[in-house]
Amino acid sequence: MSNVKIPDPAFAQSIIDAGGKTLDLCYQCGTCTGSCPSGRTTAFRTRQLIRKAQLGLKDDILPSEDLWMCTTCYSCVERCPRDVEIVDIIILMRNMAVAKGYMAEDHKKVGRSLLKTGATVPMADNIRQLRVSMGLSADPPTTVGDAKAMADFRKIMEKTGFDKLIGGQ
Ligand code: SF4
Ligand code: SF4
Repeated sequence: MSNVKIPDPAFAQSIIDAGGKTLDLCYQCGTCTGSCPSGRTTAFRTRQLIRKAQLGLKDDILPSEDLWMCTTCYSCVERCPRDVEIVDIIILMRNMAVAKGYMAEDHKKVGRSLLKTGATVPMADNIRQLRVSMGLSADPPTTVGDAKAMADFRKIMEKTGFDKLIGGQ
């Protein structure tokens, strides 16, 4: 089996057309990789992902776990000498991956928590008690504590098919 990667300029252009106009500005200095807390504990390399995007290596990027390793902390964006909008580009590529049915399992889990409880991080009892002790309602007036907002939110998840994508049904 050949290991030759086939560049797809149309894929790189689709990222630029979708809003990633700074993709071409990257000159591969590696400052982003050196700034990335996620890369310290995983094999994820920001510079490499951006290079693959420039080359249009769609089949390397869209199904890959690397695409989901970024925590969107923006350390790389703050330090990039070329003002590449790295996080925006990663999010654009995640949207493209999701449209093809790819999503990291951990992200699906977060989505399922949101669908079930209205929050990505479920409310803990001690937080509820703290809120009450401060004269607040036990649950915040968001999807967590507002039944109508939660029903509306679930409807949106259903209509967009997001619930099925994350295995919420
Ligand atoms: S810091 Fe900016 S210019 Fe340097 S490799 Fe990363 S994206 Fe490219
Ligand atoms: S925003 Fe993402 S890619 Fe950039 S440093 Fe943070 S985790 Fe790494």
